[in-house]
Amino acid sequence: MKKSKILVHICCAPDAIYFLKRLREDFPESEIVGYFYDPNIHPYEEYKLRYIETERICRELGIKLIEGEYDVENWLQKVKGYEHEPERGARCEICFDHRLKKSVEVAKELGCDYLTTTLLMSPKKSIPQLKKAGEEATKDSSVVFLTLDYRKGGGTQEMFKLSKDRDIYQQDYCGCIYGLFKQKDIPVQWDLVSFKGRRPGSKEERLFIKEVRLFVEELNLPAKEYEFPFLNWKVLEGKIEVDKEVIPSYVLPYSQSIRGVAKGRVEHVNGDKLFLNKQNVKIILSEPFRDLPLRVATTLVNPTFIVPAQYREKLLSGKVVATLKTEFVPDKSEVLIIGGEKAKEFWGIPADTLQDGKGTDIDFVRRLIEDNGEKIRREELAIVLLGAESLGRAGSKFVEDFLGIKVNLICEWS
Ligand code: SF4
Repeated sequence: MKKSKILVHICCAPDAIYFLKRLREDFPESEIVGYFYDPNIHPYEEYKLRYIETERICRELGIKLIEGEYDVENWLQKVKGYEHEPERGARCEICFDHRLKKSVEVAKELGCDYLTTTLLMSPKKSIPQLKKAGEEATKDSSVVFLTLDYRKGGGTQEMFKLSKDRDIYQQDYCGCIYGLFKQKDIPVQWDLVSFKGRRPGSKEERLFIKEVRLFVEELNLPAKEYEFPFLNWKVLEGKIEVDKEVIPSYVLPYSQSIRGVAKGRVEHVNGDKLFLNKQNVKIILSEPFRDLPLRVATTLVNPTFIVPAQYREKLLSGKVVATLKTEFVPDKSEVLIIGGEKAKEFWGIPADTLQDGKGTDIDFVRRLIEDNGEKIRREELAIVLLGAESLGRAGSKFVEDFLGIKVNLICEWS
């Protein structure tokens, strides 16, 4: 008898982990293929994060995974006019239709008998709404839609447990830009703005950690993630001009905002530090010109610009105009421990980058892990990726405080 084939549309790893396990148990004779088609997810880094986590669990379960196209423009066109709909409303109906119709096409191409979706697992989704969308999408084909309710009988709790045990990334909004604004009760613009590089607490930083983790698991090395809270600092806008010429600058971490605009002259000089007579603005002359991490937590929070040393005379003789908006917000970052927590030695690598994007390259990290794989296995060494490290060594301090691990930083941003 021909083995039946099931295509599972996958929306994210937390919803998929328990769903796929149950599907395996309930259809032991069937071939299961995963299909990640979610162009609704915004921004792209969030999409990639969810995809990488899905890849991780599919690999663990031995399920083939196909990545669909990220045709976000198409999706946005489809939901046009429904931007203000609540969740479970008309926009979600269109969103399900769009994803499931495409899934039917793929199911037909692959010769699948059945189609189902991990969206059925999500506690916030309506099962009748999904059933309707699935049956509608499959009605003109030989593919049968399976409406499986694995939430009942403690399924939801089991799903959260499995997700937590594996440190799976747990998103805090459904996926699209409209849901993002509605569901989050924090200012959401930071999810939509790229600060270049992998700034502390950003999606880019988390994505980097998850990509390394995927690689580590491919090598069958142990890995564990820990999330920690920290006080984040972000530059919203900043500029320094002398006699109307904009001077290249970086803003020193933890600098305060300037109220309006500070227009003034240098009134005090201490070596390579210049101080304006307005709003405590400080200028650090730097040679070579480069961004600086925060070495230690500081209570001195002057609005501070780092500028190339060659501008010294110009700054001393001209009229300086500075604008700066920064923000301090409670945020979360992570550390990834590659190897045992009882290892003899711990090497630390910052996972975040500086404002100019300088930081550790993923290929370097991969090579380092691969080259030291045996040492890691024998617990002679563990490698720790440290989140939010550029902001006062937050990652190193967390592992020391929480796990009693002292890391030896083997690379920095210099
Ligand atoms: S809230 Fe979720 S299901 Fe609804 S349209 Fe947005 S991404 Fe799709």
